[in-house]
Amino acid sequence: MHIVIIGSGIAGITFAEKMRSLSPDAKITLLSRENQGYYSRPMLSRGFSRADIEQAIILKPFNVLQEKNICVIGGVSVTRIERNSRQLSIQSAGDLETLTYDKLVLAPGSDAFVPPPLQPFRELFFTLNSLVDLQRLRRFRQPFLERGQTPHWAIIGGGLIGCEVASDLAVAGDKVTVFHAMDRLMERQLVAEDSATLLQVLQTSGVRVLLNQSVQGLQKSAEKIQVVSADGSSAFDAVLVACGFKPRTQLAADAGLETGRGIKVDQYLQSTDDHIFVLGDAAELPNGKLYAFILPIRHQALWLAAHLSGQQSRPWQPPAFNPKAKVHNFEAAHPYIF
Ligand SMILES: Cc1cc2nc3c(=O)[nH]c(=O)nc-3n(C[C@H](O)[C@H](O)[C@H](O)COP(=O)(O)OP(=O)(O)OC[C@H]3O[C@@H](n4cnc5c(N)ncnc54)[C@H](O)[C@@H]3O)c2cc1C
Repeated sequence: MHIVIIGSGIAGITFAEKMRSLSPDAKITLLSRENQGYYSRPMLSRGFSRADIEQAIILKPFNVLQEKNICVIGGVSVTRIERNSRQLSIQSAGDLETLTYDKLVLAPGSDAFVPPPLQPFRELFFTLNSLVDLQRLRRFRQPFLERGQTPHWAIIGGGLIGCEVASDLAVAGDKVTVFHAMDRLMERQLVAEDSATLLQVLQTSGVRVLLNQSVQGLQKSAEKIQVVSADGSSAFDAVLVACGFKPRTQLAADAGLETGRGIKVDQYLQSTDDHIFVLGDAAELPNGKLYAFILPIRHQALWLAAHLSGQQSRPWQPPAFNPKAKVHNFEAAHPYIF
């Protein structure tokens, strides 16, 4: 049996390793756009206060997986799933190849969500969704540090990632202003009392927080970026949009699989095609939920490997978990809302 996995995040890697250990005879191929190895996405938001981050973040080079007899093909993009012939089209540096599968596991993760009003300004802002994004941000920041300065950042979005990054940049010594469209921070995850504590913690660390500030657009002026909101406009060295995530569903939708917010699966993590399963940020469960956190994703991946090896016949049930924001010096007093 040839099992092909798309994606080298926590979902794809955990599944590949567990599948290898449970099914020594299966042929396992993992395809990914990444070519720097398997890295910790949560650590991205500690990407400024830690000098060694670009090394520390790599949890597993791909050759460690090759040594376990998992064929990893990095630096490639799967562009098409041909379900009738169970064939994938793979794009790599100008070449187009095909690969057939018996079972396909989609673990393509998610992109940063960019609200429609900001989409026309794509070249004027950063996002922080991958190691390449972090490296780009660090390269932008470096010349300021070499001149003995620090940049002034506008962060658009006071959700989980926006608050984490604001906090880390402030700890690293940068000036930070957060624009948040709602009247309190992390309103999707925290009760009002904890949002107020978080606001205080960020302000104490030097972050300026502007609530009820819906950003309408960006403008480039000389070396600065103007952030335009209802209250006027102000200039920053750089803008980072942190407005949540968007599951990568296009490949599946183009193949005729049912998609909604994510790629729809049943309780067995099976898509609307018997041969295709979905894990991680991209999987939308029958209750409409996306379990886009490390703990439940790891649980899904281990469960699916056991299921496909014939060792698990009960449906996947999400484990109990309590997400936590990695904002320096912040502890919520109440459990997070999920
Ligand atoms: C800044 C940040 C901080 C976070 N902090 C936390 C935290 O503290 N705790 C927590 O639980 N969660 C956190 N999360 C969320 C967590 O990191 C994600 O839920 C998790 O990493 C998703 O894993 P995944 O394997 O589904 O997807 P990903 O890690 O996104 O991996 C998907 C992979 O698929 C590849 N891919 C996609 N499409 C294709 C294609 N067509 N062809 C080839 N390859 C493809 C991508 O290149 C990528 O390698 C954070 C996320 C971010 C961005």
